[in-house]
Amino acid sequence: LPQVVIIGRPNVGKSTLFNRLVGKKLALVDDQPGVTRDRRIGDVDLLGLRFKIVDTAGWEDEDAETLPGRMRAQTEAALVGAAAAMFVIDSRAGLTPLDEEIGRWLQRSSVPVILIANKAEGKAGDSGIFEAYSLGLGEPVGLSAEHGEGMADLFDALLPIIEPLQVEEEVVEYGEDEDRPLGPIQLAIVGRPNAGKSTLINQLLQENRLLTGPEAGITRDSIAVDWVWHDPKLGEDRPVRLIDTAGMRKRAKVTDKLEKLAVADARHAVDFAEVVVLLLDATKGLEHQDLKIAAHVIEEGRALIVAINKWDVAEDPSGLFNGIRHALDEGLAQVKGVPMVAVSARTGKGLDALLSAAFETRDIWNKRVATAALNRWFDDALSANPPPAPGGKRIKLRYITQAGVRPPRFVIFGTRLDDLPESYRRYLVNGMRRDLGFGAVPVRLMLRSPKN
Ligand code: GDP
Repeated sequence: LPQVVIIGRPNVGKSTLFNRLVGKKLALVDDQPGVTRDRRIGDVDLLGLRFKIVDTAGWEDEDAETLPGRMRAQTEAALVGAAAAMFVIDSRAGLTPLDEEIGRWLQRSSVPVILIANKAEGKAGDSGIFEAYSLGLGEPVGLSAEHGEGMADLFDALLPIIEPLQVEEEVVEYGEDEDRPLGPIQLAIVGRPNAGKSTLINQLLQENRLLTGPEAGITRDSIAVDWVWHDPKLGEDRPVRLIDTAGMRKRAKVTDKLEKLAVADARHAVDFAEVVVLLLDATKGLEHQDLKIAAHVIEEGRALIVAINKWDVAEDPSGLFNGIRHALDEGLAQVKGVPMVAVSARTGKGLDALLSAAFETRDIWNKRVATAALNRWFDDALSANPPPAPGGKRIKLRYITQAGVRPPRFVIFGTRLDDLPESYRRYLVNGMRRDLGFGAVPVRLMLRSPKN
């Protein structure tokens, strides 16, 4: 994580600020100068901005009016490799010669400096904040570490420095991830009784090479069966792990109870799957129960594919396909355009297309967009259709970053986000699907505003 160093003469509130940011009472804080003695490092999560903070309190000498050599050497050491320095002054006491000396010294350093006028609760610090401009270190952030006031302004000052570093680090982490080949695709096949799940699984296992014993997936207790699919498009073998569902078990009879079990089973399978294939019966079409299972898959953040089985006996195939497409898009408002594949478990037709679609969807589910490209897209989306201004006050969206994958998750930083209408959120998510290639996998969007 990027490091931020707190610097300032004794008794300006460095330890209080440290504690406020770290969120725990780690340091002994006292009005007497020089009470804290150890160099302390803490992890900060300030409204999603994550960094390490180093407190230099306790490095001061007794003589508060000079910059002692020891403090200077230690501070210099702490600044090496730091992303930023927070230079704290006491806005009620006003500037002292030592503040000015530290200020001059920091001006010469290459580390970005955030000037903090502390003890500014209420209006008490106004004149001190004004005076602080004379240090030539930019606009001072007035705050009260003790009362937690002004944290949003501190967030704003840190954001342009920390956020790019934080994101760089995430991208590096992901880069390592990316080099590691993804494991076998974890696939679950769910659907109502008689949709053809058992037939499909048998067909898949029969056509393809099993990695474990041939009975593994078909016994009652098994959890998964591993096999290898030969991808004809890539000309490559690709490992598949089929997650256990009711379709993999031997059953005597299909009863009403099983209809309910289908949903329960889907829930179980979804917990372990990356991609879930919802199998429909072409002779029955899309029914309410199917939509319920589909919605559950999406809610759980898994990638969904719809396979229409028994295509060999489908009447009016194109009418059927379009009808199901329409009903799916209506029924799953958050994800239009879920991949649909027509198959016949009996003949094996369409099974390669189904597995291709499953692997492709998993790639999207794992996909990450670089922050620069993401924000270029974001700026365009905001200028094409600016956020509304309820009550005359414009909602401000500043910055977007991808917080994770599997499923893709994004964080937008801004202000007045509580007022952002659902329709605008949908506008952004649909844009990501269309312009950034997130297709029809679940996409999570979180909003973060600086609040105290
Ligand atoms: P499950 O309850 O979902 O596991 O469904 P089954 O695999 O037991 O299949 C239910 C019925 O549909 C059986 O009679 C199968 O033979 C039949 N079936 C499954 N797949 C197909 C298919 O692709 N085409 C046709 N015509 N029938 C199929």
